[in-house]
Amino acid sequence: MFSPQHLRSLALCPAYAALRAHRPKAGPHSRERHAPVSVSEMYQGQWTPLVPRAQWLAVQRLLSAPERKTCRPGRGKHLLSLIARCGRCEGGLAVTYRGGYPRYFCRAKGCVLIPQAEVDQIAEQVMLAYLARPEVIDTLRAGEHDGDRELAMLRDALATVRARHDELAEAVAAGRLSVALAARSEPAILAEIQRLEKQEKQLATPSALRGLIEPGADVARRWASAPMSTRREIARLLLTPQLIGELRITPSLTPGQRVAAEQRIQWWRG
Ligand SMILES: [Zn+2]
Repeated sequence: MFSPQHLRSLALCPAYAALRAHRPKAGPHSRERHAPVSVSEMYQGQWTPLVPRAQWLAVQRLLSAPERKTCRPGRGKHLLSLIARCGRCEGGLAVTYRGGYPRYFCRAKGCVLIPQAEVDQIAEQVMLAYLARPEVIDTLRAGEHDGDRELAMLRDALATVRARHDELAEAVAAGRLSVALAARSEPAILAEIQRLEKQEKQLATPSALRGLIEPGADVARRWASAPMSTRREIARLLLTPQLIGELRITPSLTPGQRVAAEQRIQWWRG
């Protein structure tokens, strides 16, 4: 068994990501030798990494974040809360039990109110039909090998550039770098982050979907046995303007009178 402290020191060790912390001026007994080394000072080691570098860097950011809390899986109980949006004000929808049964309502301004079960059912049907479409299945399967490898490399690159950006901010805060000098190098770093993030987004959705559910003709069976947290992740990926469209509920035109949920759902695509 590892103690939490032991796990933490393991997770912080750069060697696991095949990175070499380089401190040329520090002697074997100097105190500086044990000070944390920034990512930009590290070298690529000549051994095979035990963990992908992006993952390692992500752990460093988590462990050193001041607001760090113990990570818990999402506890969302409802398929579309804060995923579906209000068609009038674009605010997120949440669930209320006022009235005796669950309904989605516009959390920001109360513009809309609609039975949850009806919306969930339609959203489920649309998402499952999408995941059973032959061209979607082909796209998802095609990227399985090259796509995932490319994505891992892209994430490594992105994590490295983000770490460089963090270090720039830290250096200015610590007074080790002038604001003027930082301002000169920052735009290039930000442009690079933006470029890599855009590429990542294009590759990440199919990859993430593959990890959540296997598409295909019998996707409905797998959906039925998936936990709510997984279903919500799938909804979050599919109900975007780039894919199926963001699910928006329009206000009822005749308040008080029941209008079928179908007529009030919009698939907003930007
Ligand atoms: Zn609203």
